[in-house]
Amino acid sequence: MSECVFCKIVEGSLPAEKVYEDGDVLAFRDLHAQAPIHLLVIPKKHISSVREIGEEEGPLLGRIFSVVNQLADELGLADKGFRIVNNCGEDGGQTVYHIHFHLLGGRALGWPPG
Ligand code: 5GP
Ligand code: ZN
Repeated sequence: MSECVFCKIVEGSLPAEKVYEDGDVLAFRDLHAQAPIHLLVIPKKHISSVREIGEEEGPLLGRIFSVVNQLADELGLADKGFRIVNNCGEDGGQTVYHIHFHLLGGRALGWPPG
């Protein structure tokens, strides 16, 4: 069994509130929501971080951002806007080393981040 917490969610051995799933992509609610809507959109395949992304992952990233747009439409975020966040590495604030894109919305979000 995988040691990666998000692989466990993909495998179903760790529960999560899933909002979208297909063969390649999974989206679920963040355990510690920072906004009224805070989802994590991940590839099912284990990729540690953006540092492992190259041109060959283009189609997978396209799938992920299509899912982001579908969810933004379904959850009513598209009109007012939303934020996609990827944290990479220690200084970037990454805590789970299975690449994920935070989808945050439902309130006005401040800038710059802390
Ligand atoms: P990072 O800091 O790596 O960008 O984001 C990791 C995110 O994963 C955090 O926002 C954290 O709340 C969330 N998270 C960590 N463990 C779990 C978990 O077991 N289930 C869910 N749903 N979210 C988690
Ligand atoms: Zn993983």
